[in-house]
Amino acid sequence: MSFCTCGKRGDLTFPLSVQFFCLECFSKKFERRFLRNIPRSVRGHSLVIAFSGGKDSSTLLYILNKYRKKLKIPVLSVITLDEENPTTQKSRNKIIDISRKRYPNVSFIQFSYSELFGISLPKLVLHSDRKKMRFTPCTICGVLRRHAILQLALEIDADYIAMGNTLNDEATTVFLNILRAKPERNIRNEITYNTANGRQLPNRIKPLARFFEETIRNYCAINEIQPVKTNCSYENRSLRFDINSFLLTLEKKDPNLLYNIVSSGRKFKTNNTKSNIVMKCQKCNSYSTRHECSACSLVRKIMT
Ligand code: SF4
Ligand SMILES: [Zn+2]
Ligand SMILES: [Zn+2]
Repeated sequence: MSFCTCGKRGDLTFPLSVQFFCLECFSKKFERRFLRNIPRSVRGHSLVIAFSGGKDSSTLLYILNKYRKKLKIPVLSVITLDEENPTTQKSRNKIIDISRKRYPNVSFIQFSYSELFGISLPKLVLHSDRKKMRFTPCTICGVLRRHAILQLALEIDADYIAMGNTLNDEATTVFLNILRAKPERNIRNEITYNTANGRQLPNRIKPLARFFEETIRNYCAINEIQPVKTNCSYENRSLRFDINSFLLTLEKKDPNLLYNIVSSGRKFKTNNTKSNIVMKCQKCNSYSTRHECSACSLVRKIMT
């Protein structure tokens, strides 16, 4: 039998660690690591969580709410986007109802793609497929989601956006960028965008980016965080899904490989930090690096 540092029975461990922990110490250690991943600059600033209701964003909400005072977060909000996909809609609405009750001091903002872009994701996918365009549903969904989260965060004056990306997600992204021959995309996080009147756009933080999926699942189980499994019907059409499965196989062989992939991605970032001034999209008036933002451009290509 293994023992925790506190003397109790050790039930759980972290990947790449030989130390076992009791449930309580595992949870505390998880939270300490999580808090270390939050930059000090976040203190005193408003923060919004991109919330899907899955285990990662549910963990974000749970810990950020628990340590809100310590982190000095004056305003904590949640943005949820409804793609209007019937396979995910019901379970997502359910978790939002539960979370609203569980976190009464957090403000919840919810918009559907139809409200924001005038069309639902299933309809966009249908049009794109009919025209035999090469956009996967996740590409369309991802472009619209990134755009919507940034614009909504700006509307509510959030200084930071907390994303639920895990180590597996980060490694998958690096891999995807390499497969698409666009390794320079890994530098995006290093660029700061300022509006013409000097306002800096909200920065993204990823407190779970060094955590394995399995570790997060264990934390959720200990703390009775009951996320929904959204099971999006489009998931297995994306390359991300295939790479994620492949990386899970690699992770079983050697968990270090995932850290190595992410570190390789970071190497592309070196010496590429720069500051860009953003302009307004001529169609939707939102901030963009081009005259037509990526969301408007994508919807136009699909619908015309
Ligand atoms: S699986 Fe793809 S299409 Fe479905 S919600 Fe996620 S990103 Fe969107
Ligand atoms: Zn212990
Ligand atoms: Zn636009």
